Amino acid sequence: MKKADAGRLYVVATPIGNLGDMSPRARETLQACSVIAAEDTRHTGTLLKAFGISTPLVSLHEHNEAQRAPDLIQRIQGGASIALVSDAGTPAISDPGFGLVRAAAAAGLEVVAVPGPCAAIAALSIGAQPTDRFSFEGFLPARGSARRARLQVLASDTRTLVFYESPHRVVDTLADCAAEFGAERPATVAREITKLHETTYRGSLGELAAHAAADGDFSRGEIVLIVGGAPAQTDAGGAGADGHGGALDRVLTVLLEELPLKQAARLAAIVESRSHAEDSGDRGAGCTSPAPFRCRANKCSLGN
Ligand code: SAM
Repeated sequence: MKKADAGRLYVVATPIGNLGDMSPRARETLQACSVIAAEDTRHTGTLLKAFGISTPLVSLHEHNEAQRAPDLIQRIQGGASIALVSDAGTPAISDPGFGLVRAAAAAGLEVVAVPGPCAAIAALSIGAQPTDRFSFEGFLPARGSARRARLQVLASDTRTLVFYESPHRVVDTLADCAAEFGAERPATVAREITKLHETTYRGSLGELAAHAAADGDFSRGEIVLIVGGAPAQTDAGGAGADGHGGALDRVLTVLLEELPLKQAARLAAIVESRSHAEDSGDRGAGCTSPAPFRCRANKCSLGN
């Protein structure tokens, strides 16, 4: 809940390359706040000049965030509204700001998003990989062994993976991704989004790794790597997630759809406990039907 008479902390997204992406609300907020906490005051100063905004700046970066946050919190408590910006994109997303946001939230202050550009989301939106579930991984470790260890952890993740990468590491990272995820895994590299040399590279990890190694342009500028998720495990033995070819899940779903909740829950519990009993050995000899539908020939159908 907002403290009476306190100001607010506005978390303001700024363009990632194209000034046309600055939203009217971002401009108004930056103009109206008492002070702007910026990752790099010179960089943000240029942005403010382009929009004729004269709000004073204070620096807030990874090396001074812990020391500076208490003072900014005090100012907000005293009634000032403060805007937080990073060099480009959305603050606190692989950028400074998380510490200040957390401190403001802990102090019971109102923290307001002024949303806008974010390289990860922009790349995902054009990545042509599934977007219903994804994992934002930020930057991979810079050292090769640590990077490969992280990629091994992610190798079986079925969600689309989103990485920020520095241009001078992209060749190695793509080669490591191809080695750990398999060269056939589809991927997209979004380079210089919204800028003059914006390029989208699509292909398998093997193709992209070869392209990156051969083409100097590939590793110039800012890059987001989108990697398709691991193929979902096929159910080779027909066991299904519930261990019964999915039959149990389907029965439970139908029960819940067709019956009042209490009755469905009671029947679901009976079905589940009988199938567990069957799993632990009381199944008719030679029965091949998936539980809970045991075959009548063996006199072991559900309910016997
Ligand atoms: N907070 C920022 C955001 O919301 O996008 C990200 C900051 S992070 C320190 C910078 C990284 O974002 C770059 O190394 C690159 O991976 C990615 N990035 C930023 N701008 C980009 C652009 N225009 N095109 C491609 N990637 C970009």
